[in-house]
Amino acid sequence: MPRVFSGIQPTGDPHIGNYFGAMRNYVRLGEEYGKNSIYCVVDLHAITNPAAYDPKTLAQRTFEMAVANFAAGLDPEKVVFFVQSQVPEHQELSWVFTALTPVGELERMTQYKDKAEQLESIPAGLLMYPVLMAADILLYKADTVPVGEDQTQHIELTRALARKFNHAYGETFPEPKAVYARDALRIPGVDGQGKMSKSKGESSTIGILEPLDSIWQKLRVAPTDPARVRRSDPGDPDKCLIGDYHKLFSDLPTIETVYEGCRTAGIGCVDCKKMLMQGITRELTPLQERAEGLRANPDWVRDALATGARQAREIARPVMEEVREKAGFLK
Ligand code: SF4
Repeated sequence: MPRVFSGIQPTGDPHIGNYFGAMRNYVRLGEEYGKNSIYCVVDLHAITNPAAYDPKTLAQRTFEMAVANFAAGLDPEKVVFFVQSQVPEHQELSWVFTALTPVGELERMTQYKDKAEQLESIPAGLLMYPVLMAADILLYKADTVPVGEDQTQHIELTRALARKFNHAYGETFPEPKAVYARDALRIPGVDGQGKMSKSKGESSTIGILEPLDSIWQKLRVAPTDPARVRRSDPGDPDKCLIGDYHKLFSDLPTIETVYEGCRTAGIGCVDCKKMLMQGITRELTPLQERAEGLRANPDWVRDALATGARQAREIARPVMEEVREKAGFLK
């Protein structure tokens, strides 16, 4: 049975790009792969860039990311879902892979170069980030990895490390393949400045747990097709981020009404945004209510994560035993 692995950054407040691009995908893959779908909140990765993550809030963000995924429909009875630091085998395998990885290859990683550029002092952990990621995936002998396009280089390194280990110590790991969620690549930021991204700040994102009135305030001032200078000017919904959002949140009759109304100047942009807001409210209200219920019951969340970590270790331990034996560590 194929096995899926994906790591989730503990950003605390996922946006609709994360939701459509990753979180809903996790739920869908969970239905298909069951306990062979393994997801973890990667808090060990988070600490590699202290400029981006405040250690004081890491635990809270990790908790919130778990809440968000449960609220989005991830069922701990069906999948394995846990926090990375609660399964120490990730770090152990990472060290074995560190010994196999040329520093030059890590220095060539685009994400490393981008992040390192912004830092005065570069933590070695930032350089090792892709090695830990390879360990995350291969610890479960996963062969399928749902990721964003920006992770392509890291998956290539994971494949190379699997080959290297197999060559050095005998056939052990599969070479995993990346699966890209198309929606994640195309969701524009609400500020109209390219792809929705947390790194661009809150003006770019619509959070799935964000209060609905705050979302409306962002939509109200969001740029539309610049061709619609006056209400009577026809527009092109394919050139408008509101048109893109309708495809995510609205039902088919609404999308048809909006697209036709935009092209014929039959509707104004404010009406169009209000119709979008109805779809967003329909999608996010139940999710936000579930999140509230989970926050009121933190023990349930922690227990579910602890159970997930136990299940993960049941898979990870024998793999590490195999690695230790093949690497020649004394028993
Ligand atoms: Fe965008 Fe809607 Fe205005 Fe068309 S009518 S430009 S899709 S906001």
